[in-house]
Amino acid sequence: MSVNTQKAALRKHLLEKRDATSAELREISSEKIHQNLKKISEYTNSQNIACYFPIGSEINTCDIMLDILGQNKNLLLPRIVNDNLQFCIVSNLEKLEKGNFEIMEPKDSCKKAEKIDCVLIPTVGVSKSGVRLGYGKGYYDRFLSLIDAVKISLTYSKQIVKFIPNDSHDVKIDWIVTEDENVKIS
Ligand code: ADP
Ligand code: MG
Repeated sequence: MSVNTQKAALRKHLLEKRDATSAELREISSEKIHQNLKKISEYTNSQNIACYFPIGSEINTCDIMLDILGQNKNLLLPRIVNDNLQFCIVSNLEKLEKGNFEIMEPKDSCKKAEKIDCVLIPTVGVSKSGVRLGYGKGYYDRFLSLIDAVKISLTYSKQIVKFIPNDSHDVKIDWIVTEDENVKIS
């Protein structure tokens, strides 16, 4: 079986599992993940933080985004330009509009980020060796290969799996933050 076929099967299984999370559990886990995230000094010391607007059963990042803004740090959110992620500085959540895939994106008036210290990454699945599974379009792999920033996967514990087949283009992450633990990838 090719790596792509294995990834596709695992992605389908993990998305089904994630979509089965109740709204209540999603909120409880998201709050715990926010608290755990704040225990990581590489995150708390960052001034320019890339986050993402949540979709579907993803971790709810709204409180994280509001907290970043409340601390007068730069909140960076992505929009898709020519099939690549471009992060922009968002001064408040009203500076967003519906973009590709019906995801909220920064408006054209938002300034492009010049510096990124830390990236919070949406995650379908991840292994403790730092291999991350996304939605299968490689957006984060392409973007992360271009920058030097602390890479943090936000995910439910149940999305951690023993093994994820990896391609040479897969960028390893530095930390996994779940509702139960923070895992530093060595
Ligand atoms: P995901 O990381 O979203 O789970 P994959 O790792 O399977 O998905 O990547 C999906 C596709 O994205 C790859 O087949 C490849 O074509 C493309 N891709 C990923 N990273 C790069 C890169 N650095 N340069 C060019 N294409 C890339
Ligand atoms: Mg990948």
